Amino acid sequence: MDNLYSQKEAHRCKSNLDLRVYTSNLIGKNSELVLHGGGNTSLKSTIDGEDILYVKGSGWNLADIKAEGFAPVRMQSLLDMLEEDDISDTEMVRRQREALLSSDAPNPSVEAILHALIPYKFVDHTHADAIVTISNSINGDEYIVKLFPNFLIVDYVMPGFDLAKEVYKLTKNLNWDEIDGIILHHHGIFTFSDDAKTSYDKMIEAVSKAEAFLDENAVVEIQHKYVHSDCDIARVVKTISEYKGHEVHIAINQTPLAAFYASQENLREFASRGVLTPEHIIRTKRVPLIMEDTDLIGGLERYIAVYKEYFNKYTTGKEVMLNPAPNYMIIKNLAVVSFGRTREEAKIIYDIVEHTMLAVLRADKLGGYESISEKDSFEMEYWELEQAKLKQ
Ligand SMILES: [Zn+2]
Repeated sequence: MDNLYSQKEAHRCKSNLDLRVYTSNLIGKNSELVLHGGGNTSLKSTIDGEDILYVKGSGWNLADIKAEGFAPVRMQSLLDMLEEDDISDTEMVRRQREALLSSDAPNPSVEAILHALIPYKFVDHTHADAIVTISNSINGDEYIVKLFPNFLIVDYVMPGFDLAKEVYKLTKNLNWDEIDGIILHHHGIFTFSDDAKTSYDKMIEAVSKAEAFLDENAVVEIQHKYVHSDCDIARVVKTISEYKGHEVHIAINQTPLAAFYASQENLREFASRGVLTPEHIIRTKRVPLIMEDTDLIGGLERYIAVYKEYFNKYTTGKEVMLNPAPNYMIIKNLAVVSFGRTREEAKIIYDIVEHTMLAVLRADKLGGYESISEKDSFEMEYWELEQAKLKQ
């Protein structure tokens, strides 16, 4: 992975916040690090003797975030929450908002407490493809430990307060100077430093290491031996719109990767193994609709029945079921088709699935792809905060 840091550009930055914006944009521009609003970064500073965390505001993308996209939060209020046994994520968000220096700042990232806990000025968090590909393989735990002996490695925990609390417990007696970063299984990676460039460099170094490992151990040859089938796209749009209850826009992926993916044997099992990083589920749902014949209505009815079973199995009774129709479908031997309320939303799903397909194929070369459990997926899909994010 290329390190895009330019001393010349960095010299133009007049403050640490400018530098924070600069390296956040570098991270955001690389789709192999973060996609569409994924990941977050922060800066610790002092204003009138008070410690302040500038953390990515929700609704901003790292690719084009500006200074005003960073929410200034009182550090002490964030750290105080760590002393509590359990608070809901809604309560956490409310208190984070209360601790803002300015009322027109955006909502601080749901990972703000975790950023506050890490005792370095600059903290970078991504969902790097190469890291989550390895982590989402059957022997991912072993590979990650071997590749990253100096990282703190954290088993999967739901993002938000629970994750911050878990890292707090794990690091109580830790000498932070002895670790290079944190890897969150099935989720992503954190690097940090008092220097913007060093934190960014550590991110690129770690991800490059993971990429080199994959280049050596998980080579995927995209083959073109599949037989093209046919599909009436106008009918798909009309039918899916009816099931969704609103007009859908579609994005069709027929790249060699998508066509190869769509031509795998046992396609249903193959392509229904879950998301690359938890927050993708809000966009894609856990699994796509698989079309192995032309019976679209039959396929949709089956998909919806299975989705309702999944909902009924895990709901606590408090959740309201989302629209059970799929957010993307794979047409055997042909293409991957994403559905969105807008063209942009369809493209976001297209991008997420594009990155997921390569990761699944590569993880299979490492012994098999394995995402978070169905139960953890449900908790993420029905996370009150994520639902709020989509409504914005
Ligand atoms: Zn994350």
